[in-house]
Amino acid sequence: MVILEPSISDYHIQLKPEHQEIQALAREFARNEIAPIADSIDKEDQIPETIVRKMADLGFLGVPYPTEYGGVGSDYLSMALVIEELARISCAVSVIPVAHTLIAMPLFVYGSEEQKKKFLSPLAQGKKIGAHAMTEPAAGSDVAGIKTTARREDDGWVLNGTKTFCTNGDIADLFLVFARTSDIVDEEKKRHLGLSGFILERGMEGFTVGNPIGKMGIRGSKSVELVLEGVKVPHANLLGEEGKGFYMAMDCYDHGRIEVASQGIGVAQAALEAAAKYATQRIAFGKPIMEFQSPQFMLGEAASEIQAARLLTYQAASLRDQGKEFMPTACMAKMYATEVGERTALIAIKLSGSAGVATEYPMERYLRDIQVTKIYEGTNDIQRLTLGRLIYKEAQAAISNSR
Ligand SMILES: Cc1cc2nc3c(=O)[nH]c(=O)nc-3n(C[C@H](O)[C@H](O)[C@H](O)COP(=O)(O)OP(=O)(O)OC[C@H]3O[C@@H](n4cnc5c(N)ncnc54)[C@H](O)[C@@H]3O)c2cc1C
Repeated sequence: MVILEPSISDYHIQLKPEHQEIQALAREFARNEIAPIADSIDKEDQIPETIVRKMADLGFLGVPYPTEYGGVGSDYLSMALVIEELARISCAVSVIPVAHTLIAMPLFVYGSEEQKKKFLSPLAQGKKIGAHAMTEPAAGSDVAGIKTTARREDDGWVLNGTKTFCTNGDIADLFLVFARTSDIVDEEKKRHLGLSGFILERGMEGFTVGNPIGKMGIRGSKSVELVLEGVKVPHANLLGEEGKGFYMAMDCYDHGRIEVASQGIGVAQAALEAAAKYATQRIAFGKPIMEFQSPQFMLGEAASEIQAARLLTYQAASLRDQGKEFMPTACMAKMYATEVGERTALIAIKLSGSAGVATEYPMERYLRDIQVTKIYEGTNDIQRLTLGRLIYKEAQAAISNSR
């Protein structure tokens, strides 16, 4: 996709009957199985194991992977639809497949045949749960600043370091852990070189999974600290090329951003519904507050923004499914959809008056949940930065071509 010279072919969203089927399946599951416990998941900060097992049985942990690796054999648009429906009822529950993607997708794209059979298959079938560990206490947005090291030995690698905010870490069997496999090069522009990804299994000697970090939103989904003290990892567990882990991680986040965008739409849709129902039932000055012009304006604008965010997200997924450049659209979708989610949650709170801030209603949960989606998989500042840099490059190229 070229931002300054858009092509009409980038706007082709391929919708098939399978998309409708999987959306209906996810919607029914979310309404029947998650909705009755969505509030208690948040209040008790716990997702029942049965929910994870049911998602696995329905194939929600393996939607875009081929059936030969145990997946559903569908595409990324289907994945986006599933996440949207889950997030509409519980953003926390939708985080489980989103974090799972951050190991399954790089295994699918960069794994050897042996690695796909050994690690991707159980992940895609939902027999094992996956997690992704890049972030460290002193390096989040600045991925190239990670300090965890992997030292090569004859029979494998030895990993040392600390990771933080590793989502699914409490239940994961497999972890994609990034470490520095060569010294930091002095030159600022080469800091990102020398990172590599490794598949670690729970229980490896020297690998400690810490306690969950308390959070304001997506409560129930757990993010933990990991401590690596001389963890021996076989050569066969190096994922992708040695030293190219940065690029693998960025590719992985491009995919993940589509799913976070879907979370944004799901939360926004839930907030719109809650606001519309409340404003329709609540009587003030002798009539439903929905009869007043300002609530109508607010909800009309919110619905338009949600539709725009949804189209952007489906477009990003479709571009990916057609094998086209989708990174810029995924950045736009992640940033825009999560911010639409935030604006809509604020409208839901505003239109609900005191009920909007009461914890017995879901409106305040939507606002807490959406805050988190603005941070992970690259903060929205980082999306703006990435898009701005792309536009700058395109403008430079356009100017030099016109000379
Ligand atoms: C609930 C949750 C789950 C997570 N799950 C995972 C996971 O499973 N695996 C994993 O590896 N990580 C995970 N993360 C970590 C997440 O990816 C990082 O928090 C995120 O990348 C931001 O890093 P940071 O928190 O260190 O913030 P920082 O990088 O310290 O940023 C702080 C602030 O500065 C801004 N900022 C930083 N650099 C720039 C810049 N160049 N220009 C403008 N503004 C800038 C940021 O936008 C932010 O507002 C998770 C985080 C959360 C909150």
